[in-house]
Amino acid sequence: MNVWFLGTGTSQGIPVIGSTHPVSFSSDPRDKRLRVSVWVYWEGHSYIIDCGPDFRQQMLTCGCVKIDGILYTHEHADHTAGLDDIRPYFFRQGNIPIYAHKRVLRNLEKRFDYIFEEENKYPGAPSVSVNEVINNEPFPAGNKTVIPIGILHGSLEIFGYRIGNFAYLTDVKTVAPEETEKLKGLKVLVVSALREEPHHSHFNLDEALDFIASVKPERAYITHISHMMGFHAEVQGKLPANVFLAYDNLQITL
Ligand SMILES: [Zn+2]
Repeated sequence: MNVWFLGTGTSQGIPVIGSTHPVSFSSDPRDKRLRVSVWVYWEGHSYIIDCGPDFRQQMLTCGCVKIDGILYTHEHADHTAGLDDIRPYFFRQGNIPIYAHKRVLRNLEKRFDYIFEEENKYPGAPSVSVNEVINNEPFPAGNKTVIPIGILHGSLEIFGYRIGNFAYLTDVKTVAPEETEKLKGLKVLVVSALREEPHHSHFNLDEALDFIASVKPERAYITHISHMMGFHAEVQGKLPANVFLAYDNLQITL
């Protein structure tokens, strides 16, 4: 299985428009971060987790020509705003399967009403086939099974996903013990950490490191990073040997 980090930044991306923070002027390409998303692909199967406002650019960069499904973690714009840009995939493949919590599906229906329109639909609009994700109900993706991981983003119930020995949890603040149980024996855990200072709805770096230590994956990658985390090169130097700050276009194989 291959994982391509399409974006590793927090909601505004890095650099933040108009920011005078030193990280915004970094010449290290690892300090440029699009909105958070990953492409997971194996043996001809191809899934995207989240589809934010940088989706089009990310797909052009990674060269993904087929999408078998989009797994949504939650409805916030940095994870969903790119849905309209599935059009080239829809024109070639037909309805694109999306997978999301019922609340997220209702939210997408409201914000992208023309995509879900059943009568007099504009011919250029894309269509999706809708799959509701329910916690504790694993579902198939190609020849593998996806296990939803119920987590809290502040007080919002959102999903992380486990596929084989890989798990992706973004926008995490709280994980109940029964959900952490689902993460045993991972080769790779991706988990979000916003910055060093605490935040009401995101792990900070220490919380993410504590969580990684409790899950004990072989390797962990940190994503959904704010410019306030600091320079990639400096932060990476402070991390345990099996923990890495992800960066845009990092590709890993499991
Ligand atoms: Zn987010």
